[in-house]
Amino acid sequence: MTDGSSLPPLRDVINTYGLRAEKSLGQNFLLDLNLTGRIARCAGSLEGETVLEIGPGPGGLTRAILAAGAKQLIAIEKDTRCLPALQDVSDAFDGRLTVINGDALELDEAELLGGQPAHIIANLPYNVATPLLIKWLNKRHLFKSMTLMFQKEVGDRITAAPRTKAYGRLSILSQWLCHTSRQFDISPKAFTPPPKVVSTVVTLVPRTEPAFPADQAILEKVVATAFGQRRKMLRASLKSLGGPTEDLLVEAGIKPTSRAEELSIEDFCTLARVYAKAQ
Ligand code: SAM
Repeated sequence: MTDGSSLPPLRDVINTYGLRAEKSLGQNFLLDLNLTGRIARCAGSLEGETVLEIGPGPGGLTRAILAAGAKQLIAIEKDTRCLPALQDVSDAFDGRLTVINGDALELDEAELLGGQPAHIIANLPYNVATPLLIKWLNKRHLFKSMTLMFQKEVGDRITAAPRTKAYGRLSILSQWLCHTSRQFDISPKAFTPPPKVVSTVVTLVPRTEPAFPADQAILEKVVATAFGQRRKMLRASLKSLGGPTEDLLVEAGIKPTSRAEELSIEDFCTLARVYAKAQ
């Protein structure tokens, strides 16, 4: 058998290899193969594709990605206890799975993929999910898509529209660089052990070019300054950028009395360009 159907149920795998969930590693395992299949399908057809999975754990989502036809799956797992279970998955799927024992935060994805564009699919450890996303946004040319599970509050921030509470730095950076879509929520009950919060699956497809022209470092600086005091009017919150703040805003076509969350991504990009010119 090479389609994974010979593998034991995930609960048995956890018992056989003594994979007691470690909180420090953000371990909340998904054992429902319908759900893992649904997550894998968010990336579109995986037939013949290369996939990078972060934190395969006992291998539930890993099985779903392989069953969906991925040509090659490279999985990065920090916890050495999971490696024998993942070796069983590799054997059951004709060696299409390669497991690397390491820390995803330190991973050099470009070197690992060697020019092969890949999809990232992961049920991320929540304690490192946002730093990992920011790292991948900055390497987005390596990836065809990213289908990632976050705690709902982070998923909301990634996909938020202006004039909402969740709209902020992460929304702007993510949506400026990628097309983002919220897929579905997953109840804590679906995990072993259940986390405290609801989870959300988000798909990000990198744009060929950012949505609007702007220098990334300057855009990030303007956005961080504006949202640093999100309740204040921009004429006050942007003071620390230096120079004539009101003139800058007027030139960008933005009312100086508006607040950060009222600005679209296009507005922020215009502001970043006007600010760059004034430097
Ligand atoms: N994919 C499995 C599933 O859906 O059941 C496990 C998901 S669990 C939320 C997160 C996984 O990431 C765990 O297996 C954990 O050991 C692993 N992990 C935690 N920190 C990591 C890191 N920095 N690099 C790689 N893997 C990590």
